[in-house]
Amino acid sequence: MGSLQPQTRSTTDTHSQPWYRKSAEQVMIELQTSVTGLAPEEAEARLQRLGPNALPAKACDPIWLRFLRQFNNVLIYILLAAAVATALMGHWTDTLVIITVAVINAAIGFFQENKAEKSLAALRGMLSSTARVVRGGQKLEIDASQLVPGDIVVLRPGDKVPADVRLYEVHNLQLEESMLTGESLTVGKQSEALDHDAQLADRSNLAFSGTSVSAGNAKGVVIETGTATELGKINRMIAAVDEIETPLLRQIAQLGRRIFQLIAGMMAVLFIVGFFWHDFALGELSLSLISLAVASVPEGLPAIVSIILSLGVQRMANNKAIIRKLPTVETLGAMTVICSDKTGTLTMNEMTVKHVLIANTFYGVGGESYEPRGRITLAGATEAVDFAVHANLQAFIRAVDICNDSSLQCDEQGRWTVVGAPTEGALKVLARKADLAPVQVQRFGKIPFDSAYKYMARRCDVDGQRLIYLKGAPDVLLSMCEQQLGSNGPQPLDRAYWEREMSHIAEHGLRMLAAAYRPVSDAGTEISHADVRQGMIFLGVAGLMDPPRPEAIEAIAMCKQAGIQVKMITGDHPDTAVAIARMLGMGNDLRAMTGQELEQADDVALKSLAMQHSVFARTSPEHKLRLVRALQANGQVVGMTGDGVNDAPALKQADVGIAMGIKGTEVTKEAADMVLTDDNFSTITNAVREGRRVYDNLKKTVLFILPSNMAQGLLIVMAILVGAVVPLSPLQILWMNMATSTTLSFALAFEPGEPGMMRRLPRKAGESILNFYAVWRVLFVGGLLTAAAFLLESWMVADGQDTNHIRSMILHTLVTAQWAYLFNCRLQDQFSLNMALLRNGALLTVTLGLILLQCLIFYMPFMQTAFHTVPLSFGNWMVALGIGVLVFFAVELEKLVVRRWKARHSA
Ligand code: ATP
Repeated sequence: MGSLQPQTRSTTDTHSQPWYRKSAEQVMIELQTSVTGLAPEEAEARLQRLGPNALPAKACDPIWLRFLRQFNNVLIYILLAAAVATALMGHWTDTLVIITVAVINAAIGFFQENKAEKSLAALRGMLSSTARVVRGGQKLEIDASQLVPGDIVVLRPGDKVPADVRLYEVHNLQLEESMLTGESLTVGKQSEALDHDAQLADRSNLAFSGTSVSAGNAKGVVIETGTATELGKINRMIAAVDEIETPLLRQIAQLGRRIFQLIAGMMAVLFIVGFFWHDFALGELSLSLISLAVASVPEGLPAIVSIILSLGVQRMANNKAIIRKLPTVETLGAMTVICSDKTGTLTMNEMTVKHVLIANTFYGVGGESYEPRGRITLAGATEAVDFAVHANLQAFIRAVDICNDSSLQCDEQGRWTVVGAPTEGALKVLARKADLAPVQVQRFGKIPFDSAYKYMARRCDVDGQRLIYLKGAPDVLLSMCEQQLGSNGPQPLDRAYWEREMSHIAEHGLRMLAAAYRPVSDAGTEISHADVRQGMIFLGVAGLMDPPRPEAIEAIAMCKQAGIQVKMITGDHPDTAVAIARMLGMGNDLRAMTGQELEQADDVALKSLAMQHSVFARTSPEHKLRLVRALQANGQVVGMTGDGVNDAPALKQADVGIAMGIKGTEVTKEAADMVLTDDNFSTITNAVREGRRVYDNLKKTVLFILPSNMAQGLLIVMAILVGAVVPLSPLQILWMNMATSTTLSFALAFEPGEPGMMRRLPRKAGESILNFYAVWRVLFVGGLLTAAAFLLESWMVADGQDTNHIRSMILHTLVTAQWAYLFNCRLQDQFSLNMALLRNGALLTVTLGLILLQCLIFYMPFMQTAFHTVPLSFGNWMVALGIGVLVFFAVELEKLVVRRWKARHSA
């Protein structure tokens, strides 16, 4: 194997010929492989020697730089300015504490960013791409990183080419190579050796790593892996999970800036009032103004928001929905329409042929799932048919068996599975059940199945007879045939008969697939679309059962309650689609809009048609894009599922593009915002529920944190305006914002969803988190906290109490009232003390954490020195608690009034 290494590391070696100039046989000899692939042990040995087929991870900035970057934000500037100001005044302890806080804050930001990156990297790992290989004669699906030179890979539409490959069997293969060559048109490929030197874009028998298959299929030998590939040479990473910033995070950053601008203006006014009117000493006044700046910016908010978002992403991943773009977590909660594929998402994708219809005869097929056991009988009979008598049935079954890319496998436990598409697998099962006499088959060129034209064709020799077999959607095949196989051989096509009989099959929700054939006289081996447009003879139709997923029925009912419309988009027959939609509970009075009708409608007409219909049948992937646009034109927030390569544009256009993890191609997954690892519709609804919960909790957190900032700011403003003692020092304010508020808001991150969450309408897209009611709530609670603290302060001042005691008491009262308000925030508009309280263990934890923190600041001598606090008595704790309870009930009263008002308003 010594010759392998140098050879596989250079395609343009000047001494030996480049791969594209060698014949496929020569390439295989040099790489010591064959069409049956490498033996698994040999592949393993090569992997050990040559390393995995992966590109090195993108180098990231050094740790110190990422840490320093955390200081580049408005909040830290304020803190640093405060540190400088206190240092100038000689308040060294304050300076030290402020700097410590700035560093801690940067550390939290740094830790948070690291964690977010790590969890995104983990998600990237879950999305690692796979490759279809042949090893030891077996078709396998392996992680693309395990590929080695000499591996035989199979390429299908939608695949990302996993390594550099020399193609040796090509069926209409079209590749999209723009990422390497910049050429946006797809390029056709072939398998012959080139007899001249060629540029990358012209090496027509090579498929390069990272490019994608737009159509057709092929087999090839891996010639280069990892960094030796053309992609490795330019070292560009292919699509990764990105976009850490979400609209909400942007809103919050903007809110912080707005608040700061407001405060800066206010500081100028207050400086004039305080200095010229009340004759405050410059030092004291500056400290108060710094307190004001520190008080009014919600420091803890960005960190807690990103924590809630990443917790949400993790929970969704545990529930089989992998988020590829963080903003999707928020969009999910606003989704108003889900457009879903039928096969495999709403149905089980476990096909069983139940009926076969040929000219004048209807057959039943027994048996379930992929186990090839069951009789083929005449309709209503129990005896298995005799194929010597039913020759046309035999011809149909032979056609769907030979024009078929799947195979059946039985594992050690006797379970039968399909390698390939379930539709094709079901036809293989039918052929096994028929157990026809063996024939000599030689397979030649084929037209692979594609949803765009909905058929597959194959040229072959069967016992020496040259034939073209065609199988596909019945209505498509009917339009391609002029004859049918009758009892006395070919006869004119009786279209009315087939359509009538098929509508009976479709009424039961069966998926239909037809077959046709034609003898050919020439000895060619290739096949084109023109070859199946003439002289084809219709053989018959199979009816396949694909039962609805029981959990999809529940999920659709839930969507209805949650104000989300579900639309089924399928390539199947309209009657089949409507029958399945009925079984799924999508409605009884349904009519499917067909792909053809969709094409005839212009954009204006489609805008209303898209809203009226729930079932779209006989569609092709391009129709999906128009549908998404039409729904969006109605102001809908659209989720669209997809699996095939042609679905990618629609997924990109949708607000939430949803790719199938199992059935979906690499290209579709890359275009998606979310990937379902189980291809199941109900996973989407679960993700929507999680999205709503996350958004609710984010909103609750904002509503929880802002009033306390407002109260702190207002207290200082009032103190300066009336010339009184400023009730909180900058450090005490920092303590509230950084330690206690943040600790408390963790409880909201773990809050379970509200009871009626999936019974309310989706949130309006683009709605600001601070809507009218939210602003009112912030003002109301902020005002309440200010009033309570101000009254307490006035009373304590009148009582002649010491400044440090007053400040300690105000601090503790505000913290306790905020803790009480935390309970109000648990539920947006219902009474907060419900049983779910007990399910949120985080509430108890943060309460204990809070008590500990408060004991620390009041009773530890070094904290007393740093924060100018004094020990509080039991009575003081009780007063604070009493005020907290009052605040709690005042807010509950406000919720009650608003609830009543809303009820009357909506009535
Ligand atoms: P959905 O969009 O609900 O997932 P689908 O993807 O199964 O539906 P298509 O794959 O476009 O829809 O299939 C449309 C029709 O093409 C099927 O009803 C069937 O008649 C036919 N068909 C499906 N698979 C094959 C195949 N492998 N070979 C030939 N014909 C097929």
